[in-house]
Amino acid sequence: MPLRILVVGAGVSGISVARGLLRDGHDVTVFDQRPQVQAGGGAVTIWSNGATVLRQLGVDMDGAGQLLSSVRVSTSHRRRLATLDVAAMVNRLGAPVRMVARRVLLERLLSGFPVERIRCEARAVNVSRTPTGAQVEFADGSHAQGDLLIGADGLHSMVRHAVGEPDAQPTGWCSWQGLVTLADAVDDPHVAQVIIGEHGNLGLWPAGGADLQWWFDLPWSRDFVRPEHPIDEIRSGFAGWSAGVDRVLAALTDDHLAHSPYPHFRHRLPRPGRGALTLLGDAAHTMPPTLAQGTNQALLDTMVLCRALSELPAGRVDVPGALRWYEKTRRRKVAAVSRVASLQVCHGESVLRPASLLSDRLHTWALTTFLHCTSHHRLATEISRKLAVAVLPSGTSRPALGVTP
Ligand SMILES: Cc1cc2nc3c(=O)[nH]c(=O)nc-3n(C[C@H](O)[C@H](O)[C@H](O)COP(=O)(O)OP(=O)(O)OC[C@H]3O[C@@H](n4cnc5c(N)ncnc54)[C@H](O)[C@@H]3O)c2cc1C
Repeated sequence: MPLRILVVGAGVSGISVARGLLRDGHDVTVFDQRPQVQAGGGAVTIWSNGATVLRQLGVDMDGAGQLLSSVRVSTSHRRRLATLDVAAMVNRLGAPVRMVARRVLLERLLSGFPVERIRCEARAVNVSRTPTGAQVEFADGSHAQGDLLIGADGLHSMVRHAVGEPDAQPTGWCSWQGLVTLADAVDDPHVAQVIIGEHGNLGLWPAGGADLQWWFDLPWSRDFVRPEHPIDEIRSGFAGWSAGVDRVLAALTDDHLAHSPYPHFRHRLPRPGRGALTLLGDAAHTMPPTLAQGTNQALLDTMVLCRALSELPAGRVDVPGALRWYEKTRRRKVAAVSRVASLQVCHGESVLRPASLLSDRLHTWALTTFLHCTSHHRLATEISRKLAVAVLPSGTSRPALGVTP
C-alpha cells in the first residue's frame, strides 16, 4: 500500500524527500507558504555524500555549478595553513564535489517533478497526530490528513515548535554572503579559498562560469545594529587579505549585502518523535555553515527516511516504528557533524596556526574519513546498487526498494 505522505516545506529538503518518496511509489503532497517554489541566496557546496543521494534521486547535476578539485586554507597574513585535496576525496568517496547556486539546485530537483504535487500559499499553522496518522492545519482554515507528516519547514520550523522541540540558538557568528559575477577574481575555477583571520574569516568559492560565492564571517549578537553602509565595514575588516579578496571587495556594493547578514544558528537535536510526525533538514538540525554540510545532511536524511519507509513489511505498516528508526539512525551521525561545524576553532587564526605543521595528506584524510564515517556509507552503497538493478534495460524504471504501488 502506498502511504499518503504530507511534507511541510518545499525547500531543498522538502522537494528532495518528496522526490525520493514518489520514486518509491508513495502518494506525496508538499505544502509551502510561499506563492511559488523558489530558492534565493547564494550557492551551496554539494559534497560527495550529498552528490550520492542526488544520484539516487535521479537528479541530473551535469554541467550545474562548478566542480572543485581543492580547497586552499590560509591566514589573513597570507600564511598557508592547508590545501585539501578534493580530487583525492572524490576518488575515495565516489562522487564529485561541486559548488552550485541554490536556485540551480532547486531547479534540478524540480526537473521531472510532478508540480501538481506541490501546494503553494499553504501556510501550516498547526500539526497533530490522529488515530490513523497525522493532520496539518493551514492559515486559511483548511486542513489535510495523511498516514504521516514530515516537517521540512526550515530553521524556524512550525512543525518543530508544534512537537515541543526548542528553537535554534544563535552561535554568536553571522555570514555576509552572496553570489557575484566576476571574471578573473580567482586564478583557478576548480580551487576554493578560505582565509582565516583573528576576528573573522572569509571564503571565495567558484560557483560556475564567472559566478563566485563570497562570504565574510563576523561576530554577531542579538543586539546587532545594521550599519548604514555595511560594505565599508566589510572592506575595513578584510581588505588586503589577498589580491582576489580585494578584487571582490572592489566589486561589491551595499546592494550585494542587502539580504545579509545571515546569523548562524544551531538546534539541539530533536528527541525521538511520537506517532506519525517527524522532522527533516534544517527543521531537525540547523547547524552553522562552517563545514558547508546543511544541504548535504538534508539529503542524507532523505536517503535514510526513504529507506525506513520502504522497508515496511507488506501488510504490517508500522509507520511510527519506521520514523523512530530513521531518527535513531541519523541521530549520532548528524550530531557529530553539527558538533564539528560549531567548533569556534574555525574562527581563530592563532588557534589554527599549528595546523600548518600537519601535511596536506593528513588534512585531506581527516576530512574524508569524517565524511565517510558520518554519511551511512554502507547503506548508501546498498541503496545505489538496488536502484541500479531496479532500472529496467529499456531505460524505464520501476518503483525501487520493495514498495509496490
Ligand atoms: C549563510 C549560510 C550558508 C550556507 N551554506 C551552505 C553550504 O555551503 N552547503 C550546504 O550544504 N548548506 C549550506 N547552508 C545550509 C543550507 O542552506 C540549508 O541546510 C538547506 O538549504 C536546507 O534547507 P531546508 O529545505 O531544510 O530549509 P529552507 O530552505 O529554509 O526551506 C524551508 C521551506 O519551508 C517553507 N516553510 C516554512 N515555514 C512554513 C510553514 N509554516 N508552512 C508552509 N511552509 C513553510 C519555507 O517557505 C521554505 O520554502 C548554508 C546556510 C546559511 C545560513
